[in-house]
Amino acid sequence: MIYYTSKVSSIQSPVKDVKLIGIAMSQTDDFSFIPGQYINLRTVIDGIEVERQYSICDVGHNEITIGVKRVKSGIMSNYLVDNLKLGDELEISGPDGRFIVEPKHEQRKSYLFLAAGIGITPIYKMIKVLLEQEPKSEIYLLYSNKSENDIVFKAEFDAWQAEYQDQLHVIYTLTNNVNRSFFGLLKTKNNTWTGKTGRINTSFIKDNYPSLTSNLNKEVYICGPTEFNIDLEKIMLDLEFCINKYIKNFFMSRISQ
Ligand SMILES: Cc1cc2nc3c(=O)[nH]c(=O)nc-3n(C[C@H](O)[C@H](O)[C@H](O)COP(=O)(O)OP(=O)(O)OC[C@H]3O[C@@H](n4cnc5c(N)ncnc54)[C@H](O)[C@@H]3O)c2cc1C
Repeated sequence: MIYYTSKVSSIQSPVKDVKLIGIAMSQTDDFSFIPGQYINLRTVIDGIEVERQYSICDVGHNEITIGVKRVKSGIMSNYLVDNLKLGDELEISGPDGRFIVEPKHEQRKSYLFLAAGIGITPIYKMIKVLLEQEPKSEIYLLYSNKSENDIVFKAEFDAWQAEYQDQLHVIYTLTNNVNRSFFGLLKTKNNTWTGKTGRINTSFIKDNYPSLTSNLNKEVYICGPTEFNIDLEKIMLDLEFCINKYIKNFFMSRISQ
């Protein structure tokens, strides 16, 4: 596998415990990427070489962006969220992965994206290219987070939804709709949230994905922590989705060092 040594070119903190990390790609790097793919990222932490996978959320001018969420006691994620600085060097290889969309201008499909938390990272770019390059298709995103403050890319999705009203439908749901104060110890219900609450389950999908029973060609993409992926895969099977019509991304699988 070929590794490139690349420098960190931007760092943003869209929500607590998440960093969007821009990695510079020189024009000589042979990097062509299909939306949904990931990179392998390798670095040395406390003298030990560590490698993990991160989905590419966007590709800009000579830069790719990944989104990393802190995992409790996790080696790489805590290092990236807390210690990474502009100009630091990272080794990357890839891109890789078959969790992808390949838009076609004349194609008409119904896409259902089921995302939880940081599982949104590959889906963000997939939706962006579908809006730009597959105008006849409809897109539903059911996006679960613990609280409103955890929703990554909310401003972007809201803007796209306003721009592509007939094409994109984003339904957020919160599973722990509380405000925290006094160093996170005091919890009170967040009464400002007017959207949906609760987990994505069978009835949530039936209520919020009207094309479930349509004869449109459907594709389902599931991305979140392993437990979410397993639950949603079972639900889609119960809803009699054919196995070849949905694609899952096992996100939080533990990768050995
Ligand atoms: C294809 C793919 C794409 C991915 N994309 C993203 C992405 O876009 N964004 C993102 O944030 N993550 C993504 N991930 C997950 C990412 O690769 C890492 O797994 C994640 O950041 C955690 O790595 P870590 O080193 O911080 O945690 P680790 O150190 O690997 O620990 C993970 C968990 O295991 C526990 N653990 C650690 N050691 C042990 C042990 N010995 N026994 C039992 N439990 C242990 C930790 O407490 C922690 O809860 C992706 C994964 C895959 C496979």
